[in-house]
Order: sequence, then C-alpha cells, then structure tokens
Amino acid sequence: METEKVRLLIIGSGPAGYTAAIYASRANLQPVLYAGLQPGGQLTTTTEVENFPGYPQGVDGNQLMEDLRQQAERFGADLRQGVATQADLSQRPFKITIDGSKIIETEALIIATGAAAKYLGLEDEKKYAGMGVSACATCDGFFYRKKVVAVVGGGDTACEEATYLAGLAAKVYLIVRKPFLRASKIMQERVMNHPKIEVLFEHNAEGLFGDNGVEGVHLVQRLGEPDERHYDLPIDGFFLAIGHKPSSDIFKDYVETDAAGYIVTEGNSPRTNVPGVFAAGDVADPHYRQAITAAGSGCKAAIEAERFLLNG
Ligand code: NDP
Repeated sequence: METEKVRLLIIGSGPAGYTAAIYASRANLQPVLYAGLQPGGQLTTTTEVENFPGYPQGVDGNQLMEDLRQQAERFGADLRQGVATQADLSQRPFKITIDGSKIIETEALIIATGAAAKYLGLEDEKKYAGMGVSACATCDGFFYRKKVVAVVGGGDTACEEATYLAGLAAKVYLIVRKPFLRASKIMQERVMNHPKIEVLFEHNAEGLFGDNGVEGVHLVQRLGEPDERHYDLPIDGFFLAIGHKPSSDIFKDYVETDAAGYIVTEGNSPRTNVPGVFAAGDVADPHYRQAITAAGSGCKAAIEAERFLLNG
C-alpha cells in the first residue's frame, strides 16, 4: 500500500480540525488534514449560526466553515479529501489508513473527527433511509415543501430543525419523549409560538409505514402509568434530532474513551493517554459541543502538537 510520511496529521474538518490546521500551519508544522465523510463537519448541515463570536448578524454555517477552510489554506495547510478508515497508534510514527488505500505515517496526530447523528434504532429507519428518513433538516428539508414532517427530539438541535422545517413544510410535529423540552429558552419559545409546529410531549415513535416512502409514523403516547395510547400519524418526512455519537471507533483500541465513546483527555488539555495523539472538538467533548469550544480545543491541540514535536 502507498505510504506517505508527515509530521502532523489532522483528521476532521469541523471547527476543531480547521482551527488546529490554522495554528499548526502558522507554526510551520506543515500539517496534512483529511476532511472526512462530511467536509466542513456538522455546521455545514445547520442554517444560521448566531452564537459564534465575531458575527453580530449571525453567519451561514457553510460560509463559516468555508472561511475557516480558506484561512487554514492561506497559511499552507495541506487540505485533502479522504476518510480515515483504520488506525495503528501502537507506536510512532502512527499509521493511519485513508480510504482503505493509502497509509499516512505521522509523528503527531490530532483527532478532530467530531460526532455523527444518532438514530432511534428502528428497523424502519433503515428501510426508509433516503425515502423519508433524514437526520439533517437543512440537507433534506427542501424536499418537504408544503408537506407534513415530524422531528424527533427535544434539544436545541430538534427545535432548530423544527423551526427551519416550519419555514418550508405545511406542518411540523415535534415528537418529544419527556413532558418538557431540554432546549434553551429562546429555542423553546420559537417552537412553542410557531403556528406551524405542534409539540407532541410524552410521545415515542415505534415505527414508520408507507408503500412508497414514508407515509406515516406509529406513535405511542404516555398517559400516566400504565396507560398509553397507540396511534398512527400521517407524515411525509421523519427527521431525527436526538443527539450525536462521537466518531472515535477506529481509535478505541489505543486511546481511552468513556462509556459513550468520547475520547478521554487529560485535565483541561487535548492530550490523550497516547503521547503525541491529541483529541479536539466534539469527539472529546460530551459537555459543551459548541463550534466555538471545538475551535478553542483545536487551537490547544495544535499548540500541544507543536510542543510535542519540538521536544519529542
Ligand atoms: P441533546 O442531547 O441536547 O438533546 C437530545 C434530545 O433528544 C433530548 O431531548 C433527548 O431527550 C432526545 N432523545 C435522545 N435519545 C432519544 C430517544 N432514543 N428517543 C427519543 N428522544 C431521544 O442534543 P442536541 O443535538 O439537541 O444538542 C447537543 C448540544 O448542542 C447541546 O449542548 C445543545 O445546546 C447544542 N446546540 C446548540 C445550538 C445553538 O446554540 N444554536 C444548536 C444545536 C445544538 P431527553 O431530554 O429525554 O434526554
């Protein structure tokens, strides 16, 4: 297999990966960055980002990521398309296989692979994948203009997706398993006051039906133990917004992860238990998961990598 030697490899192209690339290239580490499955990361699937400092009017998620990409490129970071499919971190140089076809040997590694959307685990989610089931409203919302959709979840993502979809669809149901929303107050208010959004509290989706793509969802409503009501709701689209799973699988044999798969780092730093391997952004952050905190940890990871390469 083709092998290439580099000093610093960054995997992932969200705010953490690109910020690490900006800092590392300015420090002349000539970083190579592989963008992963979703170049630009999760922010490319969102609409307006209102809480990234420096943008008083908000900024489109894709634009923000494009700006970060260009900033990294400007200082000479080698930005590439490709997905890390295997890792051997047992000794230095670390060996990362890209797309199953090329090995990058690197002296230091920054894992900034982020997290991927979670699904409920229903068979029907697979059955109707691409036929009415989606985990990204901004990617697929366009297909549901003037239609009826359901969003599952009660956090900020679910509220944001429901609000976005309400701008396109005729009607949006928000399926929430608890009797309350977990989202921030401002997002809750937007959802509760939106004329096209109906929140179905204490509801769970049990399955989907339809001959030609999704035509409805089987719901169960909790009515107070032990009573529950099962019924079908006609919908055209089913959107998941129930959180994310960290993309750490290929590293788990070497770096310590917690029960949910988040990479464990040392104290307040991006250092993992493997010297020379650093983790930044959502893959190592079960708590904050914000673009700005990911960017901050990408910065820290690059500074740590620089120190490691100087001393190592
Ligand atoms: P969260 O973990 O905050 O919320 C997940 C939601 O999905 C919860 O309501 C949870 O219910 C529900 N859920 C989880 N599993 C299931 C299941 N199996 N069946 C039904 N419902 C389920 O994830 P988010 O993606 O919403 O947000 C992640 C982080 O990103 C948060 O910190 C959030 O604040 C932040 N964020 C910020 C935004 C912004 O500021 N613009 C936009 C989007 C996200 P339950 O409450 O019962 O656990």
